[in-house]
Amino acid sequence: MRVEFFGVRGTTPLTTGAATAFGRNTSCLAVTSAAGDLLIFDAGTGLEALGRRLRETGGRAPRRIHLFLTHVHFDHIQGLPFFAPLYAAGAEIVFTSAFPARRLRRNLVRFMSPPFFPARFAGTASSKTFRRLGRDPVVIGGMTVSACPLRHPQSSFAYRLAEGAFSLVLATDTEHPPSGLDERLAAFSRGASVLVYDAMYTPEEYEARRRGWGHSTWAAGVRLARAAGVERLLLFHLNPDYSDADLEGIEGLARAEFPAAVCAREGMLETETIGR
Ligand SMILES: [Zn+2]
Repeated sequence: MRVEFFGVRGTTPLTTGAATAFGRNTSCLAVTSAAGDLLIFDAGTGLEALGRRLRETGGRAPRRIHLFLTHVHFDHIQGLPFFAPLYAAGAEIVFTSAFPARRLRRNLVRFMSPPFFPARFAGTASSKTFRRLGRDPVVIGGMTVSACPLRHPQSSFAYRLAEGAFSLVLATDTEHPPSGLDERLAAFSRGASVLVYDAMYTPEEYEARRRGWGHSTWAAGVRLARAAGVERLLLFHLNPDYSDADLEGIEGLARAEFPAAVCAREGMLETETIGR
């Protein structure tokens, strides 16, 4: 399995001029299985660059793309109208989420339609199917994907992908409960090689102003990583208001408590052999 981060920011892409080592785009990961299946998680603004990459690889890019959405808040779908394969007649896109398939389709049709966007979602040239990931995992090639509900306004879902001994949990747009630990998510994440977790706020910001907003902190990520016995923790959904210095500070605090913690960065790769 090869995992590449095309967007790690939360809420809105970074539009200020300052250089950043963490990247500007919102949530988007590309996962390639050992057999070459392509799974994309979230359609944030990072999806545009991924689409460009796929177009440039031409005939070598897989025809079928599995696009999983954690939920349909703006920062997780904003890249979809700019995703080149959506307009490619030969592309098959399997839109998957843990929401009912018809609801997912309806929401994407609403999102991508005039007057908000000139092209209609349903009129684009790719072939599209819609799938709900329920209690049972889906198997794509040699990879299995399962889902777990998160604590977020209008809901979000975590995904766990596994291939051989390597497993990754993407748990973004979630708020830890007052007890500090989401037991259901801890069970879902048990023993994962990598946990990608919502670290939108510092614990101080969270306590002062952001309780109930549906996002979490690096400190809750460390608690979850320890409770679940994961190998690596990647802090994700990074706050666009935080400078690189702020994020490096957060990373340092997290590493002091969980040495295998790091902030995710756009362009970062996680594979079975890199990053251990
Ligand atoms: Zn978000």
